[in-house]
Amino acid sequence: MSGLPKKEECVRVVVRCRPMSRKETEDNRQKVVEMDKHRGCVILHNAGGSGEPPKTFTFDQVYDDTSQQEVLYQETAARIVDSVLEGFNGTIFAYGQTGTGKTFTMEGVNDPPELRGIIPRSFAQVFEMIAARGGENTEFLVRASYLEIYNEDVRDLLSKQTTNKLELKEAPESGVYVKDLTSYVVKTVRECDKLRDFGAKNRHTGATAMNQDSSRSHSIYTITVESCESRADGSSAIRMGKLNLVDLAGSERQSKTQATGDRLKEATKINMSLSALGNCISALVDGKSTHIPYRDSKLTRLLQDSLGGNTKTVMIANMGPADYNYDESISTLRYANRAKNIKNRSEEHTSE
Ligand code: ADP
Ligand code: MG
Repeated sequence: MSGLPKKEECVRVVVRCRPMSRKETEDNRQKVVEMDKHRGCVILHNAGGSGEPPKTFTFDQVYDDTSQQEVLYQETAARIVDSVLEGFNGTIFAYGQTGTGKTFTMEGVNDPPELRGIIPRSFAQVFEMIAARGGENTEFLVRASYLEIYNEDVRDLLSKQTTNKLELKEAPESGVYVKDLTSYVVKTVRECDKLRDFGAKNRHTGATAMNQDSSRSHSIYTITVESCESRADGSSAIRMGKLNLVDLAGSERQSKTQATGDRLKEATKINMSLSALGNCISALVDGKSTHIPYRDSKLTRLLQDSLGGNTKTVMIANMGPADYNYDESISTLRYANRAKNIKNRSEEHTSE
């Protein structure tokens, strides 16, 4: 299939555009986004007769408004989940303005099952693979945790005390970890789903109590898979891989400079952590940087061992199709483009 990356590539950036909403259609909004799936291009037109030429950006892969959850999963997430069972770490991010499909992409809709997103599909893949591989010689242990980063505070979504603030700690062998984070052993997809629902509710009640909403926090659902393989000679091989499923805070506040007070504080922190993430990814992709600025935010510190190196990372940048989102769409494409600028896919070049 055209446009798929080389095997050794460890960081991918793809873009997904959601369909027009009913409201946008009713309001006669103009669709300004065009996608060329074969060349991995997004073409953004500036409506309103400004005469500005369309802008073209090129990525590892693009997904238009007809893209299916299953295809997106197979092309972006499946190989990461695969490698987690082999003992590698992997991270899947959804980036974008609020309302562009981050949660739809990560969680999706349970019914009909075709609309399920990356998180439930990952659970299913993990347990399918365990069922296929586990047996007399290999035992698996799967654990799940779910947290949120709001205003640079880490909150445990699986804890009964939602107002807790957890500390990040660093240990020589295990690296950065969250002190006292709840982690549950899970044996089935259903158990994973239940924890996700519990955490999502926790996120919501925490949100009302603190007058925040999910679009201002990053959420990370982590599945850790440990396996112990007993060999014929009596020795054993132990592996551990971690899968981080990240629904990022809405990126739009980056550009809303008129905010004041609490909103300004939130905006500054979101801006800071999203730009720290972008900086880390672009330094990793560059391959020449000797310094990866993980320490610049809690998000990147926490994910330090799951970004770059021997790990696999994919960022799905989500955008809306309509004219009134033009500025936000440009800003999302620039962010994604800076995280990973792909040149020379064909004779065409990026105009940014
Ligand atoms: P975000 O998490 O980025 O704020 P959501 O995932 O909540 O955005 O999406 C906003 C709305 O658009 C939801 O009603 C969602 O179901 C719908 N939506 C998003 N992406 C798609 C898509 N690819 N196909 C169909 N509906 C979508
Ligand atoms: Mg969301």
